[in-house]
Amino acid sequence: MASTQSGSGLLPEVEAFLAGTPLTSLVGGRDVAGSTGQTMQTLDPGSGRPIAEFHLLSADDVDRAVQAAAHAFKASGWARMAPNERGVHLHRLADAVERQKKIIGQIEALDAGKLVAHAEGEVQNFVDTLRYFTDMAQHVQRRNVLAVAGHEAWTVRHPWGPCGFIFPWNFPFLLVGWGISPALAAGNTVVVKPAEDTPLSAIYLGRLAREAGIPDGVINIVVGTGQVAGAALSGHPGIKRMSFTGSPEVGRLVGEACGRNLVPAKLELGGKGAAVVFEDVDVPQIAQKLVHAITFHCGQVCCDATRWLVHESIARQFIDECAGRMEAVKVGYQLAGGTAMGPVVNARQRERVLSYLRKGQEEGAEMVVPGGPASVPGHDGFYVKPALLSGSLDNIAARDEIFGPVAYIATFATEDEAVAMANDTEYGLANSVWTTDIGRAGRVAESMVAGNSWINAHNVFLRGVPYGGVNKSGMGGGVNSIETLFDYWRSQSVVRQL
Ligand code: NAD
Repeated sequence: MASTQSGSGLLPEVEAFLAGTPLTSLVGGRDVAGSTGQTMQTLDPGSGRPIAEFHLLSADDVDRAVQAAAHAFKASGWARMAPNERGVHLHRLADAVERQKKIIGQIEALDAGKLVAHAEGEVQNFVDTLRYFTDMAQHVQRRNVLAVAGHEAWTVRHPWGPCGFIFPWNFPFLLVGWGISPALAAGNTVVVKPAEDTPLSAIYLGRLAREAGIPDGVINIVVGTGQVAGAALSGHPGIKRMSFTGSPEVGRLVGEACGRNLVPAKLELGGKGAAVVFEDVDVPQIAQKLVHAITFHCGQVCCDATRWLVHESIARQFIDECAGRMEAVKVGYQLAGGTAMGPVVNARQRERVLSYLRKGQEEGAEMVVPGGPASVPGHDGFYVKPALLSGSLDNIAARDEIFGPVAYIATFATEDEAVAMANDTEYGLANSVWTTDIGRAGRVAESMVAGNSWINAHNVFLRGVPYGGVNKSGMGGGVNSIETLFDYWRSQSVVRQL
C-alpha cells in the first residue's frame, strides 16, 4: 500500500509499518479491527495517493474502548500508583517516542503533508510535554489543609477516570501530547480518537505505549470517522472528562453531547487572529516574520495571524515587502529538500482555500498576491500558493477562518481603532502586537479579547504559559500549564468534626 512517489526515501521501519495494513486500533492493550469490517484509506497530501488503509471502529467498538479504559482505571493500579511510579512508565514511553523520532516524524510528514524537520520538531514537542507533566505531577500538592473552627478539614485531588480526546488533522501527534500528557500524569486513563485524515502517528503511538509497558487499557486509540467514532466517544456516559480540538461547528456538537451527560469538556477551536503592526517597527523584519507564520504548515494553524492590521503610514511599504516574500515561497513536496511550504491536507481543504479566494475577490478584496492552485512537477498533490488580500474587514475572507496560507491586510490610523478592529471578530484565540513602544505593546496586548496575546512575535508556545481560546475559539481551561494538570483531578473535601 505504501505507494508514495519514488525518490521519497522512506525509512525501512516506515515502509514496514505502512505495509502492515489495514492498520488496527488499540483497545485494552489489544490490536482491534472494527466490528463492521469497514476500512478507509489515508492519503499522502503531497502525491494525492493512498499510503495506508485502516479499520474504522463502530460505536460499539468505541463503547468497548471506554469500558477498557474504565476497567484499567479501576483494576490496573494506574490511578492509585504513586506519581513517581507512574512517572517511570511515562518516562519510558517518552524515551521510546524520542528514540523513534525520525520514524514517527516521517510517518507524520507523509500523512499530514508536513515538512520533515517540522514533523520531527513536533515529535520532540510531544516528548517534552509528556516529561513536563510527568515531573510536575510528582511535585505539586494534592492535599490542602483548610483552617475551619471546630473541624479538621482538607481537600484531596483524585483522577477522574476515563478521559476522551478527539483531535484534528493539522498537528496530529503534537496535539495528542498536549492533550493526554496531563491526563495520564494525573492518573486518568484515556481514549484517543485521531482525525481520519491523519491517523497514522496515533496508531504508531498505541503500539509504542504497549511496548513501553503502559498497563493495558490506560491508553486506547480508536480510529474512525467523526460522525461515528467521534460522536460515540463524545456522547459516551462512561467518559468522565472530554477534550475536543477542532472546528467550532463540531465543537458545538461535542459540547452538546457532553452537556447531556454532564461531562466537563475542554473545547480548543478555530481562530481568526490579528497582528497589529504599528508605524515604529522594522518593516522588512516584521513582514518576514508574518509571512513565515502564515506559510508555516501551509497556514493550517488555528492561532495564525490571518488579519494583518497595519498603521496607514507604513501600509504601502509593508504590503510590498510581504508580497515579494510571499511570491518567493517555494511550494514543494513535503519530503523533498528545499521545500518551504508543502501541500494542504486534502482536496477538500484545497477547495476550501480556493473558494475563499474566489469569494473574497467577488466581495471586492484587492488580490495583492492572488494565490491559487500550485503545481509541483512529479507530485500530483494538494498544493496552493500563498495569497495576500486587502480591503474592508467586512469581507468574507477577513471574517471566516480559511485555514490556509491566506492573509488579509487592513489599515488603521489610531491605537483605539486598531484594538477595535482586532476585536471585531467572533473568535478569540490569539493575536499579536508589533511595536517598539513597550507601554503601548502591553496596553494593546491586554485590550485584545482572546485567550492569548503575543508581543513582537506570533505563535509562541511555552510550557507553563496557558494556551486556550474564548468566544468561538473555545472554552474549558486550555492546555500546557499547571492549571491543565489540575483540570485532570477532581477536588474532594473531607471534614471531621472535632
Ligand atoms: P473538525 O472539527 O472537522 O474535526 C476534528 C475532529 O472531530 C476529527 O477527529 C473529526 O473526526 C471529529 N469529528 C467530526 N465530526 C464529529 C462529530 N459529529 N462528533 C465528534 N467528533 C467529530 O476539525 P479539523 O478540520 O480536523 O481541524 C481544523 C480545525 O481545528 C480548525 O478550525 C482549527 O482552527 C482547529 N484547531 C484548533 C486548535 C486549538 O488549539 N484551538 C488546534 C488545532 C486545530
